[in-house]
Amino acid sequence: MKLIVATGNAGKLVEIRRLLEESGIEVTGLADLTEVPEIVEDGETFEANARKKALVVARLTGCLTLADDSGLAVEALNGAPGVYSARYAGVAADDAANNRKLLEALRGLPREQRGAAFHCAMALCRPDGECRFFYGTLQGWILEQPRGAGGFGYDPLFLVPEYGRSLAELPLAVKNRVSHRGRALVQVAAWLQQNLRKRRDGCG
Ligand code: IMP
Repeated sequence: MKLIVATGNAGKLVEIRRLLEESGIEVTGLADLTEVPEIVEDGETFEANARKKALVVARLTGCLTLADDSGLAVEALNGAPGVYSARYAGVAADDAANNRKLLEALRGLPREQRGAAFHCAMALCRPDGECRFFYGTLQGWILEQPRGAGGFGYDPLFLVPEYGRSLAELPLAVKNRVSHRGRALVQVAAWLQQNLRKRRDGCG
C-alpha cells in the first residue's frame, strides 16, 4: 500500500517512513510531489494544523493523505512553545536557535520544574474532506544542556525518564517505540491495515 505523507520536515519523514514501512506501507513525501503550495500553519491546535496540511494535499492529489503536527509543551512556560515549536525563536529560526532560546527560558530552574511533553496529532484525510485523527504524547524533562547527535528539533534537550537518555541519544527504532509520533503512528498503521486492505494506494 502507498500513502502520501504531507510533511516537508526531513526528520519527521525519516521517522514516519521507517515506522510505516515496517507495516508494509510505502510513503511518498512532499518532496516527491510537484506543485504543492506553501501551507501556512495558522491553527491554534496541533489537530487543526494537521487537518489543514492533510486536506490541502489530499485535494491536490486525489489520494488519502496523512499529516503530522507536533510540538513541545513546557510546564514552566504554561505549555509554550506548543504549536509555535518550529518557530519559537522566530520565523526563520533553526533547531539550534530554538534550543538556545528554550535553555535560556528555563535557566536556573531545578529539575522538578523542568517537566515537558511532546504532543503529536495526526490527520488522515480523504479528498472529500473526511478526516480521522490519531494522537500521541511523550512526557519527560528538559535538560540543562544538549545531549546526543541523533533526531531533530528539541531531541537533544529532552530527557526520556524510562531510558535516562535524551531523545537524541536513542536509536531511531527506540525513539519510534516511545515517542509521541510513534504512538500515534502505530494507531494509523493499524487503522490502514484494517480499512484499506483492498486499496493499494488510497487514491480515488
Ligand atoms: P510542525 O509540526 O512542522 O509545525 O513542527 C513541529 C516542531 O516541533 C518541530 O520543528 C520541532 O521543533 C518540534 N518537534 C516535533 N516533534 C519533535 C520530535 O520528535 N523531536 C524534537 N522536536 C520535535
